[in-house]
Amino acid sequence: MRRIEWIVVHCTATPEGRAVSVADITRWHRERGWRTIGYHHVIGLNGEHWSPLPETQVGNHARGANANGIGVVYVGGLDRLAKVAKDTRTAPQKVTLRRLLAELKARYPNAQIIGHRDVPGTRKACPSFDARAEYAGL
Ligand SMILES: [Zn+2]
Repeated sequence: MRRIEWIVVHCTATPEGRAVSVADITRWHRERGWRTIGYHHVIGLNGEHWSPLPETQVGNHARGANANGIGVVYVGGLDRLAKVAKDTRTAPQKVTLRRLLAELKARYPNAQIIGHRDVPGTRKACPSFDARAEYAGL
């Protein structure tokens, strides 16, 4: 069993309102030379929840937090012009994200829920909101 210390929340860094599929993300990650998609959980615009990567496998989503982390991504994170980081989570995404994080926290009670930007050494806006603060009570 992997020791899970971090539940890391990401955005896909795609424009507000643009649908992105697991197949899209998998293709992007393979184009980077990765074996497959780097995230364990993906949350679509309408609150769909896909789990393309088993949690038993090490993901590829946050340098320094992969070996002991779970990667969760919501589709979005940029404004419509793809210029500015923006919390674009839809109401259904917020519902699904909170439910998923609560479930993960129950299974990994010693893990901390953080945003990608909270991983030391990361200079990114991802996930475009303060995940650590928002989910501190889970
Ligand atoms: Zn990220």
